[in-house]
Amino acid sequence: MASGVAAVVVAAGRGVRAGADFPKQYKQIAGEPVLRWSLLLFTQDPRIDAIQPVIHSEDQGLFQQAADRLAVLPPVYGGATRQASVRAGLEALAAGSPEIVLVHDAARPFATPALVSRAIDAVAGTDAAIPGMAVSDTVKAVDDAGNVFETLDRTRLRVIQTPQAFRFSKLLDAHRRAAAAGRHGFTDDAALAEWAGLKVAVFEGEPGNVKLTTAEDFARVQREAPLPDLRTGTGFDVHAFGEGDQVMLGGVRIPHGRGLVGHSDADVVLHALTDALLGALADGDIGVHFPPTDPQWRNAASDRFLAFAADRVRRRGGRINHLDVTLVCEAPRIGPHREAMRARIAEIAGISMDRVGLKATTSEGLGFTGRREGIAAFATATIRLPRA
Ligand code: MG
Repeated sequence: MASGVAAVVVAAGRGVRAGADFPKQYKQIAGEPVLRWSLLLFTQDPRIDAIQPVIHSEDQGLFQQAADRLAVLPPVYGGATRQASVRAGLEALAAGSPEIVLVHDAARPFATPALVSRAIDAVAGTDAAIPGMAVSDTVKAVDDAGNVFETLDRTRLRVIQTPQAFRFSKLLDAHRRAAAAGRHGFTDDAALAEWAGLKVAVFEGEPGNVKLTTAEDFARVQREAPLPDLRTGTGFDVHAFGEGDQVMLGGVRIPHGRGLVGHSDADVVLHALTDALLGALADGDIGVHFPPTDPQWRNAASDRFLAFAADRVRRRGGRINHLDVTLVCEAPRIGPHREAMRARIAEIAGISMDRVGLKATTSEGLGFTGRREGIAAFATATIRLPRA
């Protein structure tokens, strides 16, 4: 991928100042770990073809949760300093020799895809490009006793953020030279690049791209964080009774005096749930994705339909919050199979069982369900997508 863009997301710090009993990059913001937001940032730009997380060796379990089903490379372990951690990420990417690399601190989860895009554009024709904000406060330099000895010209000052963009080969070379020279104290990659003689340009940063450092930072963003894109979808399905001695409901085979008629296995529960998820995504319906005219879905097990819809949510960077179903039938009795159905639905959708509701009711002898002509299912799905 000699023409590609890679990203290194640095999450190897201990973050003790954030006041948690575990590192700040795994604290939750708007329902997700900080690191997940920072990784998601780079999954949005089609020009980026490799995302390399750098983590602490003790955080493997936290990382697996934070990066669940995201298209990122296996993590590498960082070093004793931020500089060493970035270098570990660069070395891991070296075999693929990308042309451009973006280096980003996981503690900046509010950077937007537009900033990432600007970073990639800004590094064209230079060695390095970094986002910076003009300074609105007056900045003074003080001596050890706290006395001012200089008031700096703030028109020339910029407060620097990440992601920072570099020619990959030049940044890797600079890191190797710094390590060989025993220079380990650079607090960002641009400072290291400047030391190595690279040309570093500044482009416009984002006021919202704050770095989460202290417990107060977290308290403030918890108050101010925008809600994620919360959505609810509904689904409804009916199948008629016919020949047979069993029905499939919620992916569970239930012995019954009759079967359900359908092109697939006629699992009304999984069909309604599939449509609920697709509805939440505004992404068509089960018939669009699995046309009943297509012979390959004849007698198909319906778990593949629900798994497909759940995967569509994850491909959008989303999560399933909750699935809920109401079955309407006079028979079979659902109660004895409820827990098995909840467990199977949870398994297919890749969520925990406490996020699956399942109820059943009769229709008091009224209508087609009351006449025992078929089974109906109503479903809702609640999902969260990344901020729009
Ligand atoms: Mg159906």
